[in-house]
Amino acid sequence: MAMSKCNRLCGSLIGELLDSIENVLFDCDGVIWRGDQAIPGAPDVVNSLKKNGKRVFFVTNNSTKTRRMYADKLAKMGFSATEEEVFGTAYCSAMYLKSTCKLKGKVYLIGSNAMKQELLNVGIEQVGAGPDPITGVQIDWANVPLDAEVKAVLVGFDEHFSYMKLNRALQYLSNTECIFVGTNTDTRLPLEGGKAVPGTGCLLKAVETAAQRTAQVVGKPNRFMFNCLSSQYGLDPAKTLMVGDRLDTDILMGSNCGLKTLLTLTGVSTVADATEHQKSGCPERLGMVPDYFVESIAELLPALQG
Ligand code: PLP
Ligand code: CA
Repeated sequence: MAMSKCNRLCGSLIGELLDSIENVLFDCDGVIWRGDQAIPGAPDVVNSLKKNGKRVFFVTNNSTKTRRMYADKLAKMGFSATEEEVFGTAYCSAMYLKSTCKLKGKVYLIGSNAMKQELLNVGIEQVGAGPDPITGVQIDWANVPLDAEVKAVLVGFDEHFSYMKLNRALQYLSNTECIFVGTNTDTRLPLEGGKAVPGTGCLLKAVETAAQRTAQVVGKPNRFMFNCLSSQYGLDPAKTLMVGDRLDTDILMGSNCGLKTLLTLTGVSTVADATEHQKSGCPERLGMVPDYFVESIAELLPALQG
């Protein structure tokens, strides 16, 4: 096995790498699908990995779906997948509040109905999902009604994000004992044709700025999602491959957790980005240099079917 970093994964190297691992973690957007379209060949890759005895998991920073919703999306696209194999930030945030924070109380949620559902699935009640109910011009902003049972603020993707939600989050977080958690820090969601929309990181930054506090972040590149997965399935990091399209989230999480890392070029980051990190010589940036790269995960297929 080559020891240098950022090698093009091709030829006999593919088989060697696959022989050396037991588990594969796939980031979703930009790796196995783009929006609502599967990456060509991706379902065959995932299904063949499983047929070859590998355990496969899906690890996404996107907080807008429950595990059930992801399992349905995967099935529709032809992936063989169960909801227990999906680790999204809606599910993992609920697990984090329950198992790490040992939360006793409600959550003030800036987030989706999917996040509300995952919280309920672990027995946590929330207030806040959906548009904020208070409207009008004569609002006493610093004295809006609060729920005394709220003991944590959780921020994820919220299409109803508003000044009032930001204000409410600040009021809850003024209590230093109120726990503060964010799903992920992705600042932009890239779309086809070079377009982009604001990601959850923008909302989280707004709340952090208003509250003058820093959130505990569940999503990649932090270790929690891997720890959550590993505590349930007992993975050996050295025999686990993280496949992602972003150096600053997927590849960095892989490095942080001692996994092998593979960058695929069907999403956000480029080989030039990786080379820049490598050349910089900065120890903090070396975690963003993948072990290998491929143009698309479809390149793994011949070695799996051969
Ligand atoms: N957050 C949101 C709201 C998204 O829509 C997406 C991608 O579609 C992401 C995060 C990034 O997801 P992933 O970690 O699967 O690339
Ligand atoms: Ca991605």
